[in-house]
Parts: sequence; C-alpha cells; structure tokens
Amino acid sequence: MTERLALALDRLGSSLQPEAAILEPLGINVDYASEDPDFRSQQVARAEAVLLNRTIVDATFFEAAPRCRVIVTYGVGHDHIDLQEAERRGVIVAHVPDYCTEEVADHTVALLLAVARGIGRGHALVRGGGWGVDGVGPLHRLRGRVLGLVGFGRIARAVAARGHAFGLAVVAYDPALSQTSLNGEPVRLLDSLRALLSESDAVSLHLPLSSETRGLIDGPALRQMKPGAILINTSRGALVDLPALLKALDDGQLAGAGLDVFPDEPPDPESISRPNLVVTPHIGYYSVESLMELKESAARAVAAALTGAPVANQLTAAASVEKELVG
Ligand code: NAD
Repeated sequence: MTERLALALDRLGSSLQPEAAILEPLGINVDYASEDPDFRSQQVARAEAVLLNRTIVDATFFEAAPRCRVIVTYGVGHDHIDLQEAERRGVIVAHVPDYCTEEVADHTVALLLAVARGIGRGHALVRGGGWGVDGVGPLHRLRGRVLGLVGFGRIARAVAARGHAFGLAVVAYDPALSQTSLNGEPVRLLDSLRALLSESDAVSLHLPLSSETRGLIDGPALRQMKPGAILINTSRGALVDLPALLKALDDGQLAGAGLDVFPDEPPDPESISRPNLVVTPHIGYYSVESLMELKESAARAVAAALTGAPVANQLTAAASVEKELVG
C-alpha cells in the first residue's frame, strides 16, 4: 500500500508531534521536507497534503506535487499561495486565522504600557548604570486617556477589553462596521481615520495589509495625530511609513511608538534605534499554547480535507481580497 503523506515544507515549533497526533490515527504520516533537494522532490511528488507558512505555492509547485489534494498554511496570511491555480487544479487551501487573538492583544497592551511607562528607556538606563526619572520622563497617567483602534475585528476587540481595564476610553475606526453592530460595546465608532488620529492619545493598528492600506500611516497621517501621542503596530509593518514614523519620533511630534512588525523583517537594528521606540521581533502571535492550537487546527484541516469532511477556514480565490504577509 502506498504511504499517505502530509509534508511540512516549513518548520514551525520544534516538532510535528501535534500534527501527528491528529493525522497518524487516520493512517497519514507527517514528515518534514528534507534538506536534500532530490529526496525533497520525491517527498513533494508523494504528498497528499502540505503544511507551510512561507513556501511559495505556484504553478511550478503544483506540477511537482501531482498527488497534493490540500494545502494548509499555518497562520492568517496567504499571499504566498496562488489560490486561482489551486482552484483550477481542485486543490483545497485553508488557513488558520484565529489562533492568537489573546496573544496579540496582550502584546499590543504590553507595547503600549512599555512606551507609556518608559519601560524601554528605564531598562536601558539601569543597564547603563543610571537611575531615576530624569532619563525616562515625562510620563503621563494612562487612566482617562483615549485609545484609538484602527480596525475593529477580533484582535482590536480583545485590546479594547484590556484598555477598559486600564481606564482608557476606547474609540475605533472600521469602515465595515456601524455603531449598532457593536451591540452596546462601550467603544465609540468614529467615521474617519482622520477623526480617530486627531482624538486619540494612543493609536493602535488592527487591520489587514492590502493595496489600500499599505502606507496608511504616512507623514500626513502622523501629523494628524495629537502632539505627544503614541503609535502601536502589531498588525503588519507596511501599514506604516517607517522613515516618516522615525522622523515623527525624532521631531518629538510623537512621544513614542511600539512596533512588533516592520516593512522588511528583520529591520536594520541601527536604523531603528531610538530611545522612545520599543521593538519586538514579530512575536505577537506566539505562545506555547497558540502554537499548539495553530498546529492542531492546521492538522484538523488536513484531516477534514482528506476524509471528505467540511474544511474550516477554507480559502477561495474570489473571497480572497486580503493580501497579507505571513504571520
Ligand atoms: P480581523 O479580520 O478580525 O479584523 C480586521 C478588521 O480590520 C476588520 O473588522 C476590517 O473591517 C477592518 N479593516 C479593513 N480595512 C480597514 C481600513 N482600511 N480601515 C480600518 N479598518 C479596516 O483581523 P484580526 O484577527 O483582528 O487581525 C488584525 C491584524 O493583526 C491582521 O490583519 C494581521 O495583520 C495582524 N496579526 C499580527 C500578528 C502578529 O504576530 N503580530 C498575528 C496575527 C495577526
């Protein structure tokens, strides 16, 4: 009998144990793609399913993988997969959009607190032998200030709940929503990005990257923000014009910023070195638990596709308006 194979083309975490626990009872072996190009080609040719998160899946890939019936990408973004070509060949494609909502919301608030409470500056000060408020201030009380969320989907709603716990008033801008659709949630929906930028003491981005939103927060948008405001980005780096943000920090137009994502990752460390900029290496999604959930959800999608059951979070070319990076 021919071996049934689900092939992991990209490595995520330290083992394929969570995927194997779901797929091996169905008689489907799970393996990493080999580093050896010849053996890898043989594996790709045999695989009925592939798991990945950045390998490009195009016509050339499909030619090399004639038995492949399902592709699951670990994470939200899927612009590395040619959905039209997959559809033409009858290959199911799925992603995992909701495994890390709590982690990204926590990370957003962690960055906001780090900037607002001078954690980055204070950390550097103590490490350098310094002490006291002189090197970190001025800091302002958070309670009573306005947190503006651009995009009000899953992650933003989780951020809003945390913001309320810190006594922040939360406003949001999301063209897909109306105030009535918020079901009495204590968040005021504003009707333009400009209104949100000019009203908020801290602005946090929670929308997808697309051709319309690339560079949304550019020089003019930054100038619409309140003097001394804070910008947080845990969504996608290219939503922000990074040189314009660095200039706004240098000019003192903004008090500080917290970034988990960059237009090019990793960024050049020298070019982003600013005392009022707190940075993390695109880890908003990560926890031991979220990674486990991601791997299990991806494996369940493979299992469903190969057993003819409905596949959660299936992607279709027509519905795919988002063009996101992986993460
Ligand atoms: P979601 O789809 O639940 O919500 C996105 C919201 O953005 C939607 O309500 C949509 O209407 C809104 N939107 C779209 N275009 C807009 C625009 N021009 N202006 C304002 N709002 C707009 O997505 P989510 O799960 O909340 O995720 C938000 C983003 O977080 C993702 O798109 C992704 O870029 C990012 N993310 C980052 C990490 C990380 O590790 N840092 C992990 C997961 C997701």
